[in-house]
Amino acid sequence: MIIVMRPNATKEDMDYVLQRAEKLGLKPHISKGTERTIIGLIGPEDALRAMPLEAFPGVEKVIPVLAPYKLVSREFKKEDSVIPITSRLKVGGKQIVVFAGPCAIESEKILLEIGEKVRSAGAVAMRGGAFKPRTSPYAFQGLGLEGLKILSAVSKKLDMPTVTEVMDPRDVGLVAQYADVLQIGARNMQNFNLLKEVGQSKKPVLLKRGLSSTIKELLMSAEYIMAEGNHQVILCERGIRTFEDMTRNTFDVSAIPLVKQLSHLPIIADPSHAAGTWNLVGPIAKAAVAAGADGLIIEVHTKPEEAVSDGAQSLLPEKFKTLMQELQKIALAINREI
Ligand code: PEP
Ligand code: MN
Repeated sequence: MIIVMRPNATKEDMDYVLQRAEKLGLKPHISKGTERTIIGLIGPEDALRAMPLEAFPGVEKVIPVLAPYKLVSREFKKEDSVIPITSRLKVGGKQIVVFAGPCAIESEKILLEIGEKVRSAGAVAMRGGAFKPRTSPYAFQGLGLEGLKILSAVSKKLDMPTVTEVMDPRDVGLVAQYADVLQIGARNMQNFNLLKEVGQSKKPVLLKRGLSSTIKELLMSAEYIMAEGNHQVILCERGIRTFEDMTRNTFDVSAIPLVKQLSHLPIIADPSHAAGTWNLVGPIAKAAVAAGADGLIIEVHTKPEEAVSDGAQSLLPEKFKTLMQELQKIALAINREI
């Protein structure tokens, strides 16, 4: 249920709605717009019906939210959400934010080398996994805490914010100490305990679409995070599993404009994990930006042939630089910046 308050509603009017909601065990979510305040009330339909909200002072309109995702929906918030990563960098505004770096953190030397290259090519944030969700238990699992320390040291040296994956609810606090954005990987998109845990965190969350998840399921997972109070969610299309096996995943370009119609949350694209091979990364990235993606997350490695994970889909820094130049032209054509 969405309650639209009148522009001249007083603090007492607001408090009255909140008190009545609280008595019925409903969780209010407040969104303050430039003109009006909107209160989202989430809870059992019976409890919502028990309140004659239209008769409350200061209430202009009561709108039932039909979609199963509530806080995530455009109905709840008309304006695009802009998620601050640092005081200077935000996702969801005019700037298309590019995160780049290796699949996995391998050593400080390698991460610094890659970080310097991607920064000079125009990336504004760094990626790198310390906890890696590998298909095989025998494959490199990531450097763990040591990796997080390297990430944060390099981030400070280069003055670039970072995103890294958290796989275990018990590690959320730890990862939040070292990274600026918490990544929920595709394999964990429906790990509801993990979603609830990052929902309790104060850090922005990058939520990747599951390997075989629908757009509705992606939005429901974002709802889990927001329902815990963390409204700083960035969605990510990274390709889905289809009958096609010549690419690692099928990049669902339509998810980008569709998500933007259904939700106020920003959505970025990961062309690397969709492609599986470096020579498809550029074209997919360009399509994503043209379709309205708010950012990109791209795997780059100075020596892809020696990378411990996902070397085949990692771009060489020179190729990444050329791609960034091409992307600038697309951004300009759609009135955005990169
Ligand atoms: C990654 O970004 O390193 C990763 C493992 O991606 P995904 O969860 O999309 O497979
Ligand atoms: Mn990877």
